[in-house]
Amino acid sequence: MDLYFYNTLTKKKDLFNPIDTKEVKIYSCGPTVYKNATIGNMRTNIFQDVLRRVLRYNDYKIKHAMNITDVGHLVSDGDEGEDKMLKSAREEHKTPLEIAEYYTNLFFEDLKELNIETPEIVCKATDHIKEMLEYVQKLVENGYAYETSTAIYFDISKLEKYPILSNLDVENQKAGARVEVDPEKKNPQDFALWIKAPENHLMKWDSPWGASYPGWHIECSAMGQKYLGEQFDIHTGGIDLIPTHHENEIAQSNGRCGKIPANYWMHGEYLLINGGKMSKSLGNVYLVKDIKEKGYEPIVYKLFSYSCHYRNKLNFTWEGIEASSKSLERLRNSYQANLKGEDSLTHIDKEKLNKIEENFHKAINDDLNMPLAMSFVWETARFEKKNPEVAKMLEKFDTVLGIKIDYINKDKKEVPQEIQELLEQRKVARENKDWAKSDELRDLIKEKGYIVKDTKEGQMLSLIM
Ligand code: AMP
Ligand code: ZN
Repeated sequence: MDLYFYNTLTKKKDLFNPIDTKEVKIYSCGPTVYKNATIGNMRTNIFQDVLRRVLRYNDYKIKHAMNITDVGHLVSDGDEGEDKMLKSAREEHKTPLEIAEYYTNLFFEDLKELNIETPEIVCKATDHIKEMLEYVQKLVENGYAYETSTAIYFDISKLEKYPILSNLDVENQKAGARVEVDPEKKNPQDFALWIKAPENHLMKWDSPWGASYPGWHIECSAMGQKYLGEQFDIHTGGIDLIPTHHENEIAQSNGRCGKIPANYWMHGEYLLINGGKMSKSLGNVYLVKDIKEKGYEPIVYKLFSYSCHYRNKLNFTWEGIEASSKSLERLRNSYQANLKGEDSLTHIDKEKLNKIEENFHKAINDDLNMPLAMSFVWETARFEKKNPEVAKMLEKFDTVLGIKIDYINKDKKEVPQEIQELLEQRKVARENKDWAKSDELRDLIKEKGYIVKDTKEGQMLSLIM
């Protein structure tokens, strides 16, 4: 089946055509490990995980590299401010190495909690100083970089076109350029490839330009090329990376070998909190551990994120998490009910299931349309016949969803699907003040071994012992 991805490079949905039909090569910009990853960061990781899973659903093998930024990412995404790692080390009274190790471990714990696969290659910036330095030297040799008293800069005026991905207005920016940090820069958009280290700088390496350290953008160009080659298939990241980091990666690659490093550039939109930005000052920065502390399995957040297309803004609310928690339970209950189901499937039933599978496949192949794909997951979960074949279909869908649909939460007494449906019907009856129907359903639930009580919190269920 054809597979389409929205490509930031062409600004349209493109038919996916990998360089090597057997193995898709992907590069994802990974975390800067100076602080806890938020559930916003995790949204981007969930999108990347779905991408991997969808490629595999389409029978592709994957070679996926993700970097860990442990040097060079300054407080502003441009060339200003302190290195984020050093700032954090100073504030937490630790060494940059301790900071990097601590937050890298937490990051991978979060991925595990969300059942997000670890890419085949995870590469740290500080392990690739040699490759970065060679890359910068090549850019200097090719005439795309120049030295100032503070740094080695990329000269964007040497490119035929800049920017390529975004709509930055270079000419206007030039005209109205604010005072530059480094007045020796030739063009306002020139960016630092390599930065000369001040006297007491903690992270620095020997180079032809003295003790210095890499800029942020060079690490992804150097590691991408090392592990995936000069040109690979897909490059991913959050939407904020388009105008600086990814634009500059393309510039670097153009300067080094005249190529755009990836054919497809995919970007995930932001997670909002109650309609606005997540920020420390508003006290609304949530981590995976906050979701856990509220008593939810972190995977609930993953399911929640499927309510919105990855290219649209998603608004986080605890009500949304509560609803997703119920959905996760229902999907898992349906899976168990089908596993034990004894209804036989007719030829027509099987055809219906095949059609649902085809629709699911079409939805995920249409630029990872998870909200639409979920509607077919629900159609399967609500299939009128209960049969292990239906459970098998849900298992197949879960290779994309990654919600551990076969997981049985031993701490929770399973409420059978049938009882849940009766409770749902009773809830509707009560909302409609249909007391006779409500009592009738209560008796039916009792016949099936459960007692239902009405409380302020709603219907409470207990097993007849
Ligand atoms: P940061 O730690 O802020 O540098 O973020 C790392 C990456 O996570 C960013 O480049 C974004 O791609 C992504 N990211 C940060 N905040 C959000 C958010 N609220 N929603 C989605 N992705 C985000
Ligand atoms: Zn990157």
